[in-house]
Amino acid sequence: MAKRDPTAVATTFVVAMPKPANHLYEIEMEVAPFSRAVAAFDLCLPVWTPGSYFVRDHARHVRELVVTGPSGEPLPVTKTEKSRWRVSTGPRGARGPFRATYRVYAFELTVRTSHLDASHGYGNGACLFLYVDGRKDEPQRLRFRLPKGWKASVALPRRGEEYLAADYDELVDSPFECGTHRTFRFRVRGVPHTLALWGEGNEEPGRLVHDLSRLVEAAAGLFGGLPYERYLFLVHLAEGARGGLEHRASQSCGVGPWKFRPEAAYREVLGLLSHELFHAWNVKRIRPANLGPFDYSREAYVRDLWALEGMTSYYEHVLLLRAGLEEPKHAFEAWAKDVKGHRDSPGHRVQSAEESSFDAWIRLYRPDENSPNVSESYYRRGALVGLALDLAIRGGTRGRRSLDDVVLELWRRWGARGRPYPDGAWEAAVAKVGGAAVAGFFDRYVRGVETPPFESLFPRAGLLFREKAAKEEGNGGDGVVVAARADLGWKTKTEGGRLLVAEVYEGRAASGAGVSAGDEVVALDGVRAGEDQLKRIARDLSPGQTLRLHLFRLGRLVEVPVVLGCRRAFDFEIVPDPGASQEARAVFEGWLGSRFPAG
Ligand SMILES: [Zn+2]
Repeated sequence: MAKRDPTAVATTFVVAMPKPANHLYEIEMEVAPFSRAVAAFDLCLPVWTPGSYFVRDHARHVRELVVTGPSGEPLPVTKTEKSRWRVSTGPRGARGPFRATYRVYAFELTVRTSHLDASHGYGNGACLFLYVDGRKDEPQRLRFRLPKGWKASVALPRRGEEYLAADYDELVDSPFECGTHRTFRFRVRGVPHTLALWGEGNEEPGRLVHDLSRLVEAAAGLFGGLPYERYLFLVHLAEGARGGLEHRASQSCGVGPWKFRPEAAYREVLGLLSHELFHAWNVKRIRPANLGPFDYSREAYVRDLWALEGMTSYYEHVLLLRAGLEEPKHAFEAWAKDVKGHRDSPGHRVQSAEESSFDAWIRLYRPDENSPNVSESYYRRGALVGLALDLAIRGGTRGRRSLDDVVLELWRRWGARGRPYPDGAWEAAVAKVGGAAVAGFFDRYVRGVETPPFESLFPRAGLLFREKAAKEEGNGGDGVVVAARADLGWKTKTEGGRLLVAEVYEGRAASGAGVSAGDEVVALDGVRAGEDQLKRIARDLSPGQTLRLHLFRLGRLVEVPVVLGCRRAFDFEIVPDPGASQEARAVFEGWLGSRFPAG
């Protein structure tokens, strides 16, 4: 990143929101002069938001772009691509400065987009700020023209009324929040942090600040310091808000307003904040060349999102554990659920962690009814690979080395030096740290579609990984344990009172009988279909029995006999092994930072 020089020539943006209820940002862009006269130049808007691997074509929300020359004369503007405008400066050319004004419709409340209404203005640079093609590496400045009583929060350094970005990447990487939101300041290791809260629910800001301080301290402890000069936790509390997005010196998170109680829900909130914080290292600094500087004009393909996202999902628990914000049993529950979901998903046998990463743009971010059959989330699979690697390395080195050493190797070698890592860096770091303990790991679990052998990995840390009977829903009371149940192998949904087939899983009963997603189920064995009937079938019928389905398919009634399959109902659990060896107990304690449970 270029050095931040407040006197340098910079392109300046002024963001105004005179009528926020209309959802229109009004933007003025002062394009700093070119080094020599140009006959034309291109203004572009990113097609995607870094951190979210999906082409969003933000340009569809841009309107009324007008560009003027050095003496205020209007210049011809021609659109040459969906996100590119060519500005002609006249037959003799001109150096500038040029001035562009435009408006942007901002009414999508996600962390990857922008949202302006009467209560606030959230802005994501990728949706709002044009760049001059070929000049993204120059300094950029940002000013706000705010409605009365509003303030701005953004992670950029401030000089007077201006915020300074070293280059376009930093500008786009610094989402802003404008409005009357609450801000809370705290320091960790002398570095200023701000928590900005928009909206309200059952949050306790004092507790949140306390817990975030411990979380940041845990991360600083792992990496030996903090990589940023300031940090902003930007949290939206709103109905339907969810997800987070990482930045180098901030994070944006959407959280349901009532998610702060009970404790289990609050732990999920902390998990999200922990995840995005860990990204300040992993993804934002430990990164491949495609993830900074960015090509905003097209997809950035990455083969190791399973590591960048998955390891981060694994470490979101590790940080919470080290910060004392989660107990081991909570992490065990989450991991047991992940393994179950992973092994249950038909797609895990089809798509490897590496393939899932590369195809994020057309798979994870564009799910459809067939996704479960052909894909597996690189978040979940990557987190399980991280967990397995940590256990294998710790077990294989008697607790002397761990996944921490792998992450630190990548941090010291690449991230801390501001350099992107080359292809194969994760595998090389794992091999260097884990040696023989992790031989063949990438071939099997990263490039291959095998699942790590948790049954033999958890005992390395004194833990048993085993099946337990699942609690069955819909059987009355608090659940009846069944060893096997009749299975249709589909997922249904009810829409407008109609029971529809949502997903059909390959290799199971409904798929074998030729049932399709989209079929409307009208009768089961001659009885009007409904969720209650499905529960009754699961309870009363046995595997191997035939069920008569009446379906509407494209408006025609069809009858399909389905031979019910068999599904064992169980969950996994991870519990301390009373018979664990001293060595395994020591691995447990080194790993989780807490004493091996007595008894
Ligand atoms: Zn993430």
